[in-house]
Amino acid sequence: MKNPEAQQDVSVSQGVRMMFYMMKPNETSFQTPEEVPDYVKKATPFFISFMLLELVISWVCKGKPLSRVDDVLTSLSAGILSRLPSLFFRSIEVTSYIYIWENYRFFSLPWDSPWTWYLTFLGVDFAYYWFHRMAHEVNIIWAGHQVHHSSEDYNLSTALRQSVLQIYTSWIFYSPMALFIPPSVYAVHLQFNLLYQFWIHTEIINNLGPLELILNTPSHHRVHHGKNRYCIDKNYGGTLIIWDRIFGTFEAEKERVIYGLTHPINTFDPLRVQFHHLFYIWTTFWATPGFFHKFSVIFKGPGWGPGKPRLGLSEEIPEVTGKEVLFSSSASQLLKIYTVVQFAVMLAFYEETFANTAALSQVTLLLRVLFIILTLTSIGFLLDQRPKAAIMETLRCLVILMLYRFGHIKPLVPALSFVFEIFYSICITFWGVRSMKLLATGPGKPK
Ligand SMILES: [Zn+2]
Ligand SMILES: [Zn+2]
Repeated sequence: MKNPEAQQDVSVSQGVRMMFYMMKPNETSFQTPEEVPDYVKKATPFFISFMLLELVISWVCKGKPLSRVDDVLTSLSAGILSRLPSLFFRSIEVTSYIYIWENYRFFSLPWDSPWTWYLTFLGVDFAYYWFHRMAHEVNIIWAGHQVHHSSEDYNLSTALRQSVLQIYTSWIFYSPMALFIPPSVYAVHLQFNLLYQFWIHTEIINNLGPLELILNTPSHHRVHHGKNRYCIDKNYGGTLIIWDRIFGTFEAEKERVIYGLTHPINTFDPLRVQFHHLFYIWTTFWATPGFFHKFSVIFKGPGWGPGKPRLGLSEEIPEVTGKEVLFSSSASQLLKIYTVVQFAVMLAFYEETFANTAALSQVTLLLRVLFIILTLTSIGFLLDQRPKAAIMETLRCLVILMLYRFGHIKPLVPALSFVFEIFYSICITFWGVRSMKLLATGPGKPK
């Protein structure tokens, strides 16, 4: 919800419990949507703490980290991109809901009743199941959702790999609830349903015994992220797995799951990760003859083609061998460390922007968002070793020094501000020299 003034505080205990949907109706019931805290925004420190904990545990138990820098940065970039529109407007998932509630509701359930709270919990999870299923079965909805499946790793950062486009279709599935459930109750559960799905993206939890019967668990969701044939189009549940058991889409974890898209995109460019399938649909749409076939390109499954069943042919899904080589950046270790440092500087800027939204003009906000997108794109170009990465990074470092001079970026330790200036001056010189060489000799690969 975009109303920073009305934000309620979330205690540490509530913060931990909200990550597991262990909240009580009496502490999370509000009369109006404006009073509902932005729980997702308040979850950032918990996302970071849990990811660090997973890193340590995987290192201790498995002897190696279960995450890779290039993949994690791409996931976090997608998470940041998906949150940027909320700086300007309330999400369409809530706006459309309030519109239907105000104009077309049949009756109003009491906002402060625990019964309404539990019914909404079930309603949001049920609607999520059908949205998620359609996100895999309808090509145009998949164009958004595929972002979440594009990681070839499976760890807590994968949960944050979210789509910018997804909310423009998901709202439809929640809208029937607006005929009788107050927007404030819906806005609470919409956030908890999303937050619950964070902790299940991990390989360090194996099996949770009887809980596996009812809840969506790491094991069930690993299957959902698999590209093994037995995993395709299975386990769509958000919080509960009962919907999959009822509607016949449940599959238990069997042989080792290989993660990612059946046709990998092999890039760390955050904008290509977000929009590549939309462009694919666009070109396929124009290349496919006939009105009904064009219609099918948009509304049938991603694997559909003329003469095939609605969801395509399972034998066309590439078999996994277990010997798949993960797509990795060929950047040097030093360059990867550099991208992590640049990402951390940008993350502090991003957090500060969200914290001060109300005090910033729309133009300043827009310019800040453009800088964040530029940073994420430049990091993607560096990891992809794109020839133009040096030029983009030179320009970006110039912009960051300008932002610093105009007071938009403040070093964490003010006494060390001269270090900040020296560091970025060195960066500009380094990338500037590489850009000059590039312009003089033609495209090559920066190291
Ligand atoms: Zn999915
Ligand atoms: Zn997932």
